[in-house]
Amino acid sequence: MHVAVVGGGAVGLSTALALVRRGASVTVFERDTLGSGASGRAAGLCYDAFADDVDAVVAADALARYRDMGLFEAQPYVWVARTESDATAVREQITQMQENGVGVEALTPAALGDRYPALETSGIEVAGLARDAGVLDPDEVVATLAETARKAGATIETGTPVSLDSPATVETANEVRAFDAVVVAAGPQTKPLVADVGVSLALKAYRAQALVTEPVDATLPSFYDATREFYWRPKGDALLVGNGAHEVDPTDWNPDADAEFVTRSLDRVEQTAALTPACDRAWAGLCTATPDGAPLAGQVADGLWVATGWQGHGLMRAPAMGNYLAADVLNRPNPLSEHLPGRVDPTRFDGSEEFAALDDPTRDWNE
Ligand SMILES: Cc1cc2nc3c(=O)[nH]c(=O)nc-3n(C[C@H](O)[C@H](O)[C@H](O)COP(=O)(O)OP(=O)(O)OC[C@H]3O[C@@H](n4cnc5c(N)ncnc54)[C@H](O)[C@@H]3O)c2cc1C
Repeated sequence: MHVAVVGGGAVGLSTALALVRRGASVTVFERDTLGSGASGRAAGLCYDAFADDVDAVVAADALARYRDMGLFEAQPYVWVARTESDATAVREQITQMQENGVGVEALTPAALGDRYPALETSGIEVAGLARDAGVLDPDEVVATLAETARKAGATIETGTPVSLDSPATVETANEVRAFDAVVVAAGPQTKPLVADVGVSLALKAYRAQALVTEPVDATLPSFYDATREFYWRPKGDALLVGNGAHEVDPTDWNPDADAEFVTRSLDRVEQTAALTPACDRAWAGLCTATPDGAPLAGQVADGLWVATGWQGHGLMRAPAMGNYLAADVLNRPNPLSEHLPGRVDPTRFDGSEEFAALDDPTRDWNE
């Protein structure tokens, strides 16, 4: 079977690798360089701390695959709440995660401070600790997936923007090529690409920002503050700090971080860990969103599949979802097939839905 994959990010490359390992003949088309979309801009958080049972199953599958590839670095993940209502939500999440078999526990602020003395715990109501969480190096993920897929026989064409001539026909600048199946994993561009062949997706884009600090002298976990709405992860001897998300037009957005985002992030670090590093580098990238927060991953027309709508979790889920999609395209069994199809079926929406990419699009994180 000849399969084209459009998009050389973590999801497209994971799908290509899983397809070629199952015996398909695979060509990946990437319009720019590998990882030049969201994948190369991701923070690299990778955890199993999901309250939803299906999300937890996908995460367990993905983490196991990243571990097998030697791409997963263990790094506990702590999330905290500062208001009573946020704290109630965190406690409920922890109970649900424990019922799903996820290795998480609730910590009092005192216990959190004992474990991580560099954290300023005053004002924190409750913390969750995900013991089995970790981090990924996004560039290493993309490079390893591409190299492994190439060695297994996949062809990867970079600098090759494509459009669809029909659901299973790909058009480059030089030629039109017919395939048995096409998988479009092109981030926000998935929507206009498949619209050309009459498929309407319920997909929006939002811009997320991140920065890396100068080195800090502290032992810290990966950290998410549910009340202050920001996160960090240790990156080498520095911190990668992120959030600053807002809905954008994916054809008109700024890939550089806002000055306000940098200032506010460094303020958050100072408030939360009494550290005052300068910013080393900062950037923005596009994430994709759907009306119900679950991805669009599956068949949309004869010979045509899509994989997008990851809501900021596409890197950590990529190997699980790539394997699921490859099995779906080739009509083979996959452990996730008993959990996923209804949840991620792209045709559960008709594309005319009104929705906001973020929970509260009127709330500006910078204010
Ligand atoms: C700041 C930031 C932090 C993030 N942090 C995390 C995190 O910690 N953990 C996590 O799991 N996720 C994170 N994410 C989300 C994650 O980056 C994405 O969900 C994931 O990378 C999506 O992968 P993808 O392969 O679907 O898309 P992409 O990586 O965007 O790949 C799509 C590719 O398609 C190509 N393309 C588009 N149109 C065409 C065309 N016409 N022809 C050929 N190629 C085309 C693009 O050039 C691009 O390379 C973060 C995102 C951002 C922006």
